[in-house]
Amino acid sequence: MHHGEIKLFNVGECLHLESMLFRGGAWKSVRIPAIVGLIESVNETLLVDTGYAPRFFEATKTFPEKLYALTTPVVVEKSLKALLGNTSVDFIFITHFHADHIGGLRDFPEAIFICSKHGYEAISDVKTSRFSKLTQALLPALLPEDFVKRVLFIEDLPRVELPVSLHPFTHGYLVLENYYAIELAGHAIGHYGIVAGETFFIGDAVWDMKTLTQNRLPHPFTRMITKDVKAYRQTVKKLQALQGNNPSLRLVATHERSLDV
Ligand SMILES: [Zn+2]
Repeated sequence: MHHGEIKLFNVGECLHLESMLFRGGAWKSVRIPAIVGLIESVNETLLVDTGYAPRFFEATKTFPEKLYALTTPVVVEKSLKALLGNTSVDFIFITHFHADHIGGLRDFPEAIFICSKHGYEAISDVKTSRFSKLTQALLPALLPEDFVKRVLFIEDLPRVELPVSLHPFTHGYLVLENYYAIELAGHAIGHYGIVAGETFFIGDAVWDMKTLTQNRLPHPFTRMITKDVKAYRQTVKKLQALQGNNPSLRLVATHERSLDV
């Protein structure tokens, strides 16, 4: 299997209490990065999420969205577009639709999106109120108007058996013939990671690698924003087993602070 070169970018930061991220964390505010992956192969370039974007401030100017900006202080020093320079982006893999992952989508008017159909339905559903979406960190204003015209849904891609090196994850979806999308259930509706060669982007399956390495789950308070706590714990267990099974696989969590980006 051919896989491309991988670069990581830090696209915006927000402040959170460390104690919320994992058990035993300090009761102090820490800066949490939003890390974006760029996978470059001979055929195409693929982004994994887009981090925050200055547009986040526009989208949260009025109530009820302003609550999000007030409770989650965000700093964006340089937009992803600026960090990428002249690099053209063909595809954007969206792990899930939380605002800190889709903030930059509108900056790539040519890109094709790859995401979960269930995840998309949750953010675009017209029957759900703005406030209800907001409580799930969903800001539909961040989606480009022509989103549906440019999307490939993960659930429509070929479902395949995964190599033994990725067990206990046994099934996934083949993305662009080179990569695997793997469901990491629990954090949000339609939350998927993507494997490119020896790197597994795990989105928000954990916020801090200590959840995997020291079995420190997030603070019980964060259960309020976790879609399915039971599924979340099962996903953590599977990722721990994967690390034991394949220690050379690099797991990249979007908000991992110890990554030197
Ligand atoms: Zn999230």
